[in-house]
Amino acid sequence: MSELTPLDTVRARIAKAAAIAGRKPDDVELIAVSKTRSAEEIRPLLDAGHRSFGESRVQEAMEKWPALKADYPGVRLHMIGRLQSNKAGEAASLFDVIHSLDRGSLIEALAKEEVRPELFVQVNIGGEEQKGGVAVKDLGDFLEEVRTADLPLAGLMCIPPQGLEASPFFALLAELARRHGLDGLSMGMSDDYESAVKLGATCVRVGSALFGPRG
Ligand SMILES: *Cc1c(COP(=O)(O)O)cnc(C)c1O
Repeated sequence: MSELTPLDTVRARIAKAAAIAGRKPDDVELIAVSKTRSAEEIRPLLDAGHRSFGESRVQEAMEKWPALKADYPGVRLHMIGRLQSNKAGEAASLFDVIHSLDRGSLIEALAKEEVRPELFVQVNIGGEEQKGGVAVKDLGDFLEEVRTADLPLAGLMCIPPQGLEASPFFALLAELARRHGLDGLSMGMSDDYESAVKLGATCVRVGSALFGPRG
């Protein structure tokens, strides 16, 4: 009998959380966060049929993914880290989805590109000084700017403050999405993805639960 892999376990937990919330497991995209992981660490997931991955640096993704994409058709690549405007062109050509849209300069830079990845607007859900993301009070205006630029808006993304129970922040993000007529919710990481799924996440971003602790 073969043992369950971490991928099997995470998939099963997502399915269970989805069932509890009366949702379909297929409505949740598991993004395997492969930042800092080598191609050799990533290949077993690709061999197991997984195709959705997240990276947080354009440079690192450019080094790893063109070769992997050539070997494994159907890869869907997500940019989940802070994006500099001068890297917007490269990011648009490599990534299928960008989760960290949070500044007007980035809207402008992405609007100039021919290829249009799906976009999540990152919300600074805990109102943290040092964190990226649009302030909750500015969200309505910012979404208006994105819509005016005719960019493909998929939904909202957040990273709740460290060390606090995440579920109230997930519930708030879900409420903001509802209020603004958006379906996509990118929320939940290794420690809290089940709770995020119960609260409506359509993408969860899971790294260490799949690849082991980061060194
Ligand atoms: C690193 C990272 C993750 C994954 O974190 P884990 O705790 O390893 O699951 C998810 N989202 C973002 C934005 C990240 O930077």
